[in-house]
Amino acid sequence: MDRRDPGELDAARAQLVRYSARLLDDGLAVGTAGNISVRAGDIVAITPSGIGYRDMRAADVCLVALDGARLTGDAGETPSSETPMHLAIYAATSAAAVVHTHSPEVVALSAARPELPAIHYAITGLGGPVRVAPYARFGSAALAAAAVEALDGRRAVILRNHGAVTYGRDLAEAYDRALLLEWLARTYRLALSYGEPAVLTAAELDEVTAETRRRRYGEQRRYGERRRYGERRGPA
Ligand SMILES: [Zn+2]
Repeated sequence: MDRRDPGELDAARAQLVRYSARLLDDGLAVGTAGNISVRAGDIVAITPSGIGYRDMRAADVCLVALDGARLTGDAGETPSSETPMHLAIYAATSAAAVVHTHSPEVVALSAARPELPAIHYAITGLGGPVRVAPYARFGSAALAAAAVEALDGRRAVILRNHGAVTYGRDLAEAYDRALLLEWLARTYRLALSYGEPAVLTAAELDEVTAETRRRRYGEQRRYGERRRYGERRGPA
């Protein structure tokens, strides 16, 4: 991939503006809290620090190299204070987009529980029960390291007394996971109001993951066969 593909970077900036507004609308952040980024080749486009999401324009989106170096050509805004955490996640995972929220259900859980347990099988979409990483100051290298460690084998992490981070193969996937995580935290809190909830075992979660894979594989195969027959036989 070209190191600086202008079309790809423009698309990333526009996407960040769109999804930043959604952070507020979906209740995943308030004011300027939270931040999101998209990786385009070896460049990361990330929301600026201190600009309200409603006022953010594409030109305000900051560009940084994977080693953290600021790139010229942006409007001079300062990249999000959590840039080190975003970059650490790109370095440690296959992420192409990272979403960091301060959504209320995960913040509440982060202050009271060591993890989000599997009370619903949809948690397999995040890789399993979601760990709560130990507290470290916002923007610190310690927070970036704690987040990466707690992400091992997961696509989501909750940050104690702070918020949450999800990642995905694109921004839509990372964002959907942030919504799913918030929903799961809310569902868990509701379950706790009835008493001690039943939790799915690792074997039950593995079964769900295997079945999801099997169905996805089946769909891909059927699609592939239809295409092959279509090419060989022509219209039936
Ligand atoms: Zn934060």
